[in-house]
Amino acid sequence: MKSDKSTNVVWHQHQIAKADRVRQKGIQRPAVLWFTGLSGSGKSTIANAVEQLLFAKGYHSYLLDGDNVRHGLNKDLSFADADRVENIRRIGEVSKLFVDAGLLVLTAFISPFQQDRALVRTLHSEQEFIEVFVDTPLAVCEQRDPKGLYKKARAGEIKHFTGIDSAYEPPLKPEIRVDTSTASVAECAEQVVAYLAGNGYL
Ligand code: ADP
Repeated sequence: MKSDKSTNVVWHQHQIAKADRVRQKGIQRPAVLWFTGLSGSGKSTIANAVEQLLFAKGYHSYLLDGDNVRHGLNKDLSFADADRVENIRRIGEVSKLFVDAGLLVLTAFISPFQQDRALVRTLHSEQEFIEVFVDTPLAVCEQRDPKGLYKKARAGEIKHFTGIDSAYEPPLKPEIRVDTSTASVAECAEQVVAYLAGNGYL
């Protein structure tokens, strides 16, 4: 999305490019693993487990977590639809910079709208955007309710809560789908790492 507010801004072509950084690391192909799913579906938990596996094997990664980003970069944004769109757009741009830095980036955001995820996909090259659908039924998420948010949303104390009074649009063709109602955290994490290994990222 091009902002009309920035004019007379010219992109600097740097001497050290992504390909140089990738060559220097010499062990991985950078990409973003974009975890999407309902609150409590397991995005953060699985992304954390994946990052631990990657770290232990010497890969270079960075995990961008929804709540953490909202403490800083995006603390000016609410959960209303327009701000959710901007939230995801900014994360998409940040993830692009980190991929440019040569990292395996993991993001854990509900990112409920198909259109927003499609926009982030367009920021990256085809091989560099890996959508991971953490497919956990609403009833299971609500039963887990790790942060007590569903209870509050049901009581009307939180507005625009995904799955309750705000929509979640499931990915139509995610590169990876993990089913946390049948697989453990460790199994889900292994599945993601196996995808990376099997597709030449590691
Ligand atoms: P999200 O980041 O999607 O909001 P969290 O990772 O914060 O979700 O919370 C998911 C909760 O579900 C955690 O308490 C986690 O321990 C639990 N859980 C149970 N089984 C699984 C599983 N197979 N995969 C991921 N999380 C699971």
